[in-house]
Amino acid sequence: MKERIQLSENFFLDEFTMSQTASRLGQVLEIEPGSELHRNIEHLCVTVLQPLRGALNRSVHVTSGWRPEWLNLALHGSDTSDHILALAADIVVPGLRPLAVCEIALELNLPFKQLIHEFEEWTHLSAPPIGKPPIREVLTAYKRRVHGRLRTAYAQGLHSIETLTA
Ligand SMILES: [Zn+2]
Repeated sequence: MKERIQLSENFFLDEFTMSQTASRLGQVLEIEPGSELHRNIEHLCVTVLQPLRGALNRSVHVTSGWRPEWLNLALHGSDTSDHILALAADIVVPGLRPLAVCEIALELNLPFKQLIHEFEEWTHLSAPPIGKPPIREVLTAYKRRVHGRLRTAYAQGLHSIETLTA
């Protein structure tokens, strides 16, 4: 068995390269140790995810980490997604609603680039590029019907989805 590469106290590199979509497409995601992608994901862990994990004192599951461009396309992610640079992660915390996780991340004043409450299903957190200041943009993503089709829309701040779709 390969030795796991640790990024911070509770996070390991392999958690950011697991993708059901990639497996379904017969692909294996690999981040080269010491590469820019490795440094980026470590930066996200050390500055944002680990401090949140410490404050929550609960396990944090990464549901989507690094996405090479082809995977981001397959997942219909934004072209400018921070997942492509390995600077973003989608997380879920068993026993806590995503909105509660977002509120705690905001209260901790973590140095994130974006904190997005996504569809009441998960929390997206990204870090700014190494050496750049945190913008701390806070958004809620939800689905809105436009001409009969569901489109992703973003509202500033943290909201429960019912208040946006009502
Ligand atoms: Zn995301």
